[in-house]
Amino acid sequence: VERVDTVIVGAGQAGLAVSHLLTAAGVTHVLFERGRVGESWRSQRWDSFTLNTPNWANLLPGWVLGDRDQHAFADRDELVAALEAYAAASSAPIREQTAVTSVERGDDGWFEVATATDRVLARHVVVCSGGLSRARLPAVAARTPADIETLSAASYRNPEALTDGAVVVVGTGQSGCQIAEDLLAAGREVFVCVSQVGRVPRRYRGRDVIDWLVDLGFFDVTVDALDDPLERYAAQPQVSGTRGGHTVSLQSLARDGATLLGRLEDIDGRTLRLAPTVRACVEFADARSAAVKTAIDGYITTHGLDAPPATPDPDEPELPDLGDADTRLTLDLDAAAVSTIIWCVGFDGDLSWLRHDVVDDRGTPRHDAGVSEVPGLYFVGFPWLHKRKSGILLGIEEDARRVVEHLTDGAGTAPGGR
Ligand SMILES: Cc1cc2nc3c(=O)[nH]c(=O)nc-3n(C[C@H](O)[C@H](O)[C@H](O)COP(=O)(O)OP(=O)(O)OC[C@H]3O[C@@H](n4cnc5c(N)ncnc54)[C@H](O)[C@@H]3O)c2cc1C
Repeated sequence: VERVDTVIVGAGQAGLAVSHLLTAAGVTHVLFERGRVGESWRSQRWDSFTLNTPNWANLLPGWVLGDRDQHAFADRDELVAALEAYAAASSAPIREQTAVTSVERGDDGWFEVATATDRVLARHVVVCSGGLSRARLPAVAARTPADIETLSAASYRNPEALTDGAVVVVGTGQSGCQIAEDLLAAGREVFVCVSQVGRVPRRYRGRDVIDWLVDLGFFDVTVDALDDPLERYAAQPQVSGTRGGHTVSLQSLARDGATLLGRLEDIDGRTLRLAPTVRACVEFADARSAAVKTAIDGYITTHGLDAPPATPDPDEPELPDLGDADTRLTLDLDAAAVSTIIWCVGFDGDLSWLRHDVVDDRGTPRHDAGVSEVPGLYFVGFPWLHKRKSGILLGIEEDARRVVEHLTDGAGTAPGGR
């Protein structure tokens, strides 16, 4: 049986960052990856996917994405190529196509890590398997008529791959809005079942919103500082990195030809049952966008900055006449010639292989800033691990460094020392 100091589960940005830091600290480790490096980005993002964060904010230890325009937005394939290059430059000891099937700490303090082909004993395990590594499907999805093509934000690839006919996109978080835009640009007929999600303007007063939000300290808010802890589960705000980066709003989708529908409540035979929520969701997103602008205005005033004045954003147009959208309670799939439903209701992760009771009812791991209750067991890369930025590239280095420091200072080390 092979013995190593540390096993890392997952070779996404979190696993690669931890591996890089462990190598620098001289800690022997193995990194198991069920697919290939950056698998979530490869197999769970559609073809036109473009990061929502500008290159300068896509950081790993010792690395900033690309040598190109730091204010540009990289696409899926650029990011995957960059992660591969980072893994190679770090000489990360990755075993690809090797899913971890079980992790359990024995009475002797060593973790037994099993895959289909390996059994490894480790003093530490760092779980980097992703908090957003599979698409969620709501219970109602099971009632979709069998002849309707069913996809998720993870399995959708491009408009051409879909059966002919109208498409219903369920959910208007970042993925739902961006996929709806992708379909509209290809001339598809699109119905969008809205959900209550905030929006940020892509650019405001001369800078990208991410630049402003970093200066405002938005991403450094810790879990403990949240007024409402449930905010951790809120969908990411509507915005897009495509076309050089632009704002996306329910109004812009409607302007571009989408039919806005209320929240999807149920599927009854061949009828979608809807709640009358369109206007409320538009108003919710408008209010969030306005609040972000007000915060930026305040920051500019307080710091005496010489920022250009606000200008109208073409992707925050007036809401077109909604017709009966806000009172409509059904959509007949046959009358609307719907061939496809794409569920865009969020992502989660799978920790069923972890043989320890360290996951809450929502599937979120329990830990203190990445350090679990089980000595030697750590988490990195999960949304809100410590701060708002924990779940995105911007925050991974800070979390990975803190966990690696804890791991290497002897805390949680199995009997027998290093
Ligand atoms: C649609 C979408 C868009 C996003 N856009 C942005 C963005 O623009 N900018 C940004 O900064 N962040 C973005 N994020 C958030 C975040 O950066 C990603 O979720 C990122 O992939 C998280 O990195 P990670 O390494 O923690 O997890 P992942 O990238 O999911 O990596 C986990 C890895 O673990 C592997 N794995 C899982 N289980 C096992 C197992 N049992 N054994 C072995 N391997 C396993 C997976 O195959 C995967 O490669 C986005 C997220 C989503 C879902």
